[in-house]
Amino acid sequence: MNTNGTNGTHRPAAHGTHAAAGRALVANWQTLQQVFIRPENEAVRATLVKYMEQILFGLHDFLRDHVGITEAKSLIKLSERFQDSLIHEHPRRKLAEVIQGIIEDLAPYAVNVASPYFVGHMTSAIPFFMVHLQTIVAALNQNLVKLETSKVFSIHERQVLAKLHRRIFRRSAGFYRHHIQHPESTLGCFVEDGTLANLTALWVARNRCFPPTEDFDGVESEGMAAALAAHNTRRAVVLVSRMGHYSLRKAGGVLGIGNRNVLAIDTDDGYRIDVTALQRVIRELTGAGSDTRVIAVVGIAGTTETGSVDDLTAIGDICRRHGIHFHVDAAWGGPTLMSERYAGLLKGIQTADSVTIDGHKQFYMPMGCGMVYFRDPRAMDAVAYHAAYVNRPGSVDLGIKSLVGSRAANSLILGGALDIMGAGGYAVLIDHGIETARIFAETIRTRSVFELITPPVLNIITYRICPPEWQRRLSSADKRTRRRLTSELNRINTAVQRLQREAGNSFVSRTTLVSPDGLKTVVLRAVIMNPMTDARILSAILDEQASIFEVWQAA
Ligand SMILES: *Cc1c(COP(=O)(O)O)cnc(C)c1O
Repeated sequence: MNTNGTNGTHRPAAHGTHAAAGRALVANWQTLQQVFIRPENEAVRATLVKYMEQILFGLHDFLRDHVGITEAKSLIKLSERFQDSLIHEHPRRKLAEVIQGIIEDLAPYAVNVASPYFVGHMTSAIPFFMVHLQTIVAALNQNLVKLETSKVFSIHERQVLAKLHRRIFRRSAGFYRHHIQHPESTLGCFVEDGTLANLTALWVARNRCFPPTEDFDGVESEGMAAALAAHNTRRAVVLVSRMGHYSLRKAGGVLGIGNRNVLAIDTDDGYRIDVTALQRVIRELTGAGSDTRVIAVVGIAGTTETGSVDDLTAIGDICRRHGIHFHVDAAWGGPTLMSERYAGLLKGIQTADSVTIDGHKQFYMPMGCGMVYFRDPRAMDAVAYHAAYVNRPGSVDLGIKSLVGSRAANSLILGGALDIMGAGGYAVLIDHGIETARIFAETIRTRSVFELITPPVLNIITYRICPPEWQRRLSSADKRTRRRLTSELNRINTAVQRLQREAGNSFVSRTTLVSPDGLKTVVLRAVIMNPMTDARILSAILDEQASIFEVWQAA
């Protein structure tokens, strides 16, 4: 049956135009059925198989050959091609043409995050099998909001959550036997990302900080103003070092705490929270006559900018003494727990009340897999919801205790990956990142044009261009001169980073740190997570930066 007027042969999409010249595609019941159920004919199928085979069985070659390979083209130029705000009544292209269009017209202008020369961000290459698992998740289209649309996946998910919970909190085997499938226990949940995981943790902490009293129904029900009044206080705060991720400030806004009440605690010269300062601030805030409640203290296990890890044991002690919720933001560093060699870097994490981990970072999953874990399996009762048509009280549906409603069976991807990789496989990746970052730090130390700013704790490293004569001048300068020299160096590093990115061969990111003497310092930031990134590639990246600097200086 061919009701749409084509002769059935595949016609490549014309670049830049969307008109299907010479034939009309129509939207009607027959064509809909074809589009919904299967490819319309052998030729279309062959085109689909050609591309999907490359993607599914040669992912890394495919990405190398098709993604981000063009000359730099500005977003402004590109945006001229995307000016069409009309949804057309009838189809414009067939599936095969759409896929071909994505690969030929869009992919070349995408960012090749899988390149081993792309070491600027926390988004990198993923193992090819992730795409297979993701495809199966889409194909099964389970919805974890409720049992009636997910059945076995809701209990499979509980199993995966328990495995990670056990890695983090190391409770007894009996604990997991009891809670793993217990309908009233919630060891954690999947959300979209680290931002929502942090929000969920602080949501729970806020509600537990302002529980119902005799004549108060709880903050979730009555809101912050009533909560403060009922609990005889005027302000609620969250404490985190000034390296805290901005998602925590968003959570402060969303939860009615106020983002200015997410207070930044000073850091030591390793960009870890200054534990003495933390203690002092808590004493000041909660001393006699206090009008402030501390909802939570957040420790960071891998800061986004430098990869520093706070002293989690010390923060845990302080929180226990003061009865404050202790959240650990391990969005980045959490998977370090897979490595026997380096799990110790996160020691104290087991004393947390809640922990954020991002699957799409160092579990190398596709985008969109945040997780939050709670030591107390009843902690999430503080945020339980019931919708009559979805869940009933006492139901084991995960939707009742999740910020997210409908959501995909991401546990299938993480559970599958843990089986395929084992903790040992992940450890190989983690160890490679940390050890390669250490080698990189040594290389930077031996190259005089560069200055190492933060040696790697995990696999993140910051440095800058700062030639020897500059280093000499800085070391003997007074404060005012240092400020002037630093801002000059900031200009240089900003320019070099931009020029390297625009050249398109490699990518290192840039951020601004406040140095121990209080100066805003622009630094180059490398995140080593791609197993294909090695010392030779990193040296080549430094070579490129050095030569960009030379040219820039001469100009
Ligand atoms: C990445 C990151 C987040 C935010 O995670 P998203 O998945 O981007 O929302 C939060 N905290 C830290 C420490 C991070 O590195």
